[in-house]
Amino acid sequence: MTQVIHLGQQIWTNYHKTAACNLKSRIELVNGNERSGRDCLKNVAETVLALLKEAKQYNIPVRPVGAGWSPSPINIVEDGWLIETMRLNRTFKLNNAAVHADCDIAPEALLLVQCGATVDEVYESAEELGRSLRTGGASNGQSFAGACATGTHGSVWKSGGIQDHVRAIQIVTPQRILWIAPEKEVLSDDFIADTGSEIVRDDRIFAACQVHVGAMGFVTALLIETDPIYMVQNIQKAAKIEREHINWLCAGEFTKFSREFGLNEEPYFQQVILNPFDPFDKKCLLRFLYKRPFDPDLPAPPPPQMGAGYDALTLLGKVMANTDLFKANILQLAMERGYPKDRDVDDPDAIATWGNTTEEHAPIANLFNGSVTLDRSKLSDVFDLIIDSFREGGGGTVVTLRFVHQAQGLLAPARWKENVVIDFDGPNLESSHEGYKKVVAALDDAGVPFTRHWGKTNNLDVRRVRSDYEQNMPVWKWAQSQLMPDEADRQVFANQELVKLGLI
Ligand SMILES: Cc1cc2nc3c(=O)[nH]c(=O)nc-3n(C[C@H](O)[C@H](O)[C@H](O)COP(=O)(O)OP(=O)(O)OC[C@H]3O[C@@H](n4cnc5c(N)ncnc54)[C@H](O)[C@@H]3O)c2cc1C
Repeated sequence: MTQVIHLGQQIWTNYHKTAACNLKSRIELVNGNERSGRDCLKNVAETVLALLKEAKQYNIPVRPVGAGWSPSPINIVEDGWLIETMRLNRTFKLNNAAVHADCDIAPEALLLVQCGATVDEVYESAEELGRSLRTGGASNGQSFAGACATGTHGSVWKSGGIQDHVRAIQIVTPQRILWIAPEKEVLSDDFIADTGSEIVRDDRIFAACQVHVGAMGFVTALLIETDPIYMVQNIQKAAKIEREHINWLCAGEFTKFSREFGLNEEPYFQQVILNPFDPFDKKCLLRFLYKRPFDPDLPAPPPPQMGAGYDALTLLGKVMANTDLFKANILQLAMERGYPKDRDVDDPDAIATWGNTTEEHAPIANLFNGSVTLDRSKLSDVFDLIIDSFREGGGGTVVTLRFVHQAQGLLAPARWKENVVIDFDGPNLESSHEGYKKVVAALDDAGVPFTRHWGKTNNLDVRRVRSDYEQNMPVWKWAQSQLMPDEADRQVFANQELVKLGLI
């Protein structure tokens, strides 16, 4: 049976130490030793249902938490139960009987993932089965349910967010255990019944749950679709770019950009980290990943050669440990010192599976991260505005450009057909916050629509969420009321931030 470990009243702080709360109890859920996946899922869901019923009866707010990696306070709860899920981390291959006869996805492409499995654990399980994920974030320690909650994304420009892999979601409310799926059948009726669940087949409710922001109930498992296994070749280098190159990126001319700085082919992944003090005179850090066929005999290069751990956040955390004095030259020095330069086009190939492009992240206190997502075609128009306002506000650390296709989920921040995500990563200082606020104000003044990451510092409120997501917001709220028609059930998931955002 699923174990419920009550760790008692305590102060809990999130991973980035940007938010803390005084808990009534921290509760850890741990898998039992069921042999069958169906029994495991059923036992976990029934245990969660019992906890939610008890919480509702005693008016205790509940917050399911994954890795606690979101710096925004969506993962905390004052005087409530924080329910940790990281030991609900099994993954299961589906047999044919679990898949609906009318499902048009091959059973071998489907993987059942418990809510607390980390992105890395899912990468590994998929690879053992000869499969790969299509995209992921810069790091790999998030829980899968938590990563989907906020629309976690990377820079695979033809893919959306990590939630795009999801084909069905098991959600527990204080009343029911449900599998939420699109109208086109995926899971068999027997499988649904054996996991103690009812089925809700509705495209809109499913799209609402793909980016659930922790406000649609307790996610206990997800069914995901994977791709056949592939490898990627990493090229990363420091290079000066010109304004014209920003125009190419803005126009989606990634192959042209790659021809100039990387290989003469279309990149699968494209990222630019730049120095806002002087984006064209100082070198940018470029990273390209190119898709390659899977070769089981190819020895995996060490993670750093694949660019793992060279995302802006990790990079900064390493160099920031001793200084917050980020003036142009110091920042440049820090950027280049932390970034390997032996992965250029003439260096020996570094090729590995997708799961080897990220590595574990060690917690570093007091990092700031915020981002804006906007229509990629606006990048050239707003580039100066964004860089200048970030710097004028005092923001003095790196700015990253990442590229994402329109992502699934009604509340996915990557909501334009093609998106650029501009990340501001730095120390958790007033100047970083001010720089970010200036960017937001400048985009508003210029009348440029944009969205913000649910899991990062975002300064959002209900008014803004409604206007950012337009007609998707009432549909998302409608979906929530279908899953939890009773207001008292929704209140079980209330915390200050979700109420402020109008999501509860
Ligand atoms: C080092 C680092 C690197 C990052 N890189 C990226 C990146 O490249 N791209 C990007 O987009 N983001 C990135 N992020 C942000 C991160 O991916 C998101 O904040 C993600 O949501 C964190 O996942 P988590 O498991 O820690 O979720 P948590 O922070 O634990 O939770 C997020 C939300 O989901 C809810 N939740 C969690 N589990 C459940 C559940 N089982 N049922 C219901 N609700 C649940 C929580 O209550 C909370 O509301 C990064 C963060 C860090 C710290």
